[in-house]
Amino acid sequence: MRTLVWFRRDLRTRDNTALAAAARHADDGVVAVFLMSPKQWREHDEAACKVEFWLRNLRELKKMLAGRNIPLIIETADRFSDVPKTLLRIARKSKCNALHFNREYEVNECRRDEAVIELFEREGLSVASHTDHVIFEPGEVLTGEGKYYGVFTPFKKKYWSMIQEHGINVTPMPRQQKPIDIASSEVPEAVSGFKSSGIDPDVWPGGEDHAKNRLDSFIENRIHSYKDDRDFPAINATSTLSPYLNAGVISPRQCIRAAMSANDDKIDSGQKGIVHWISEVIWREFYQHILVGYPRVSMHRPFRLETNHIQWEDNEEHFQAWCDGCTGYPLVDAAMRQMKEVGWMHNRLRMVAAMFLTKDLFLDWRRGEQFFMRHLVDGDLGSNNGGWQWSASTGTDAAPYFRIFNPISQSRKFDSDGAFIRKYVPELDGLDGKSIHDPSEIPELLKQDLDYPAPIVDHRAARDRVMKAFQAIK
Ligand SMILES: Cc1cc2nc3c(=O)[nH]c(=O)nc-3n(C[C@H](O)[C@H](O)[C@H](O)COP(=O)(O)OP(=O)(O)OC[C@H]3O[C@@H](n4cnc5c(N)ncnc54)[C@H](O)[C@@H]3O)c2cc1C
Repeated sequence: MRTLVWFRRDLRTRDNTALAAAARHADDGVVAVFLMSPKQWREHDEAACKVEFWLRNLRELKKMLAGRNIPLIIETADRFSDVPKTLLRIARKSKCNALHFNREYEVNECRRDEAVIELFEREGLSVASHTDHVIFEPGEVLTGEGKYYGVFTPFKKKYWSMIQEHGINVTPMPRQQKPIDIASSEVPEAVSGFKSSGIDPDVWPGGEDHAKNRLDSFIENRIHSYKDDRDFPAINATSTLSPYLNAGVISPRQCIRAAMSANDDKIDSGQKGIVHWISEVIWREFYQHILVGYPRVSMHRPFRLETNHIQWEDNEEHFQAWCDGCTGYPLVDAAMRQMKEVGWMHNRLRMVAAMFLTKDLFLDWRRGEQFFMRHLVDGDLGSNNGGWQWSASTGTDAAPYFRIFNPISQSRKFDSDGAFIRKYVPELDGLDGKSIHDPSEIPELLKQDLDYPAPIVDHRAARDRVMKAFQAIK
């Protein structure tokens, strides 16, 4: 039997469940395929920097597979509806009679996969899908009443106990196979409809070896102080693995396995930095499970349905100022500029920027969610939607509506000397450590020399407005 492995968000050869299964079942070789779906990607608001990151990783994946004599075919299926027949054609042409792939959990992706399974089975080819993007399949981690969790902490405790019970198995890359007579495709330089992001590719190098080095270096040098330092954007304290996890260049099993190994194999006790980091990786799993348990969140609907009645403001000027990093609130502006410059934003700042849009500007969280997706190299429907709904008080574990970050206090607390602001808002570099958090307070005369906007809203008034709106729907 010859098997076809369909790579999607699992661009690696180590610990790739579908690839390992395909290799186990093949006695006449494995063929790999990746499909580009530019039209669908644009509809899904995929960021240009993320598509560029995929291409870099495909180049590395192709090399890794070539080392195993596995050819990588790359073709275009513009929309997901084109995928089944394109895949079938590739399977037939490369003489494969079985297909393996790792599951994804967003609604359109699930529908696409169901259509593939139906067509392949109708045509007499076998299909196997695998759990890989998460450690446990959505539906396996349920409450005592057999329901999906809607709150993180009990979910995490269940996850911990399941990991302790089942362990974490990391599968090695498959052995080298006999060469087969199929040529690999060229990896394209660009994808139609995606303009160059302008983001330096060296910020996010491709390849599973690089991702593994990033993980190892984080565990060796920074994980121990993670709990203490993770909220300070000027410190390089977090793993910056999110783009790699999102594209599957590294697996959550590899991450948790490595972290547990550095913690005497413990998951819920021991070194506090490690325990905390593992919890964050489980947040990612939680949001993937939410996508399946509560599919409405994939369809632009709030997790807490009553919040659908909130009448968000419609103010294009404010939205634009937020997008441009010109709100007059330095930490918010630095955050937005960081995202445009490197395609990534520090977690504390994602919360600050999202709270500012939804609470201070009182604009619809869906607009912010979409803008983030269009700019993030790690844009992930589950985590992005979860983070936005948390900030807007419409989601799981949502921040209660009355907990509203004050963007200036956040700035004083988490960027006390203004080092992060100075990096991304250089026009404020000349201000001292006190004024940099709130330039509207400096004397009028000095303000004139500053090429920086006045605050576009008054935080206190904005706070009252949002409190009233949420109280009205209670
Ligand atoms: C409004 C908002 C939007 C967000 N959008 C995304 C997104 O599109 N993609 C994304 O991967 N994360 C998103 N996050 C979560 C979080 O900000 C990023 O995962 C984190 O900043 C990535 O940096 P890191 O890899 O250094 O994380 P680390 O702190 O090193 O954490 C390790 C890994 O755990 C996961 N993780 C950490 N924090 C969270 C979290 N709060 N929720 C879910 N997973 C988490 C990530 O996979 C991360 O790589 C969002 C958070 C908010 C508040």
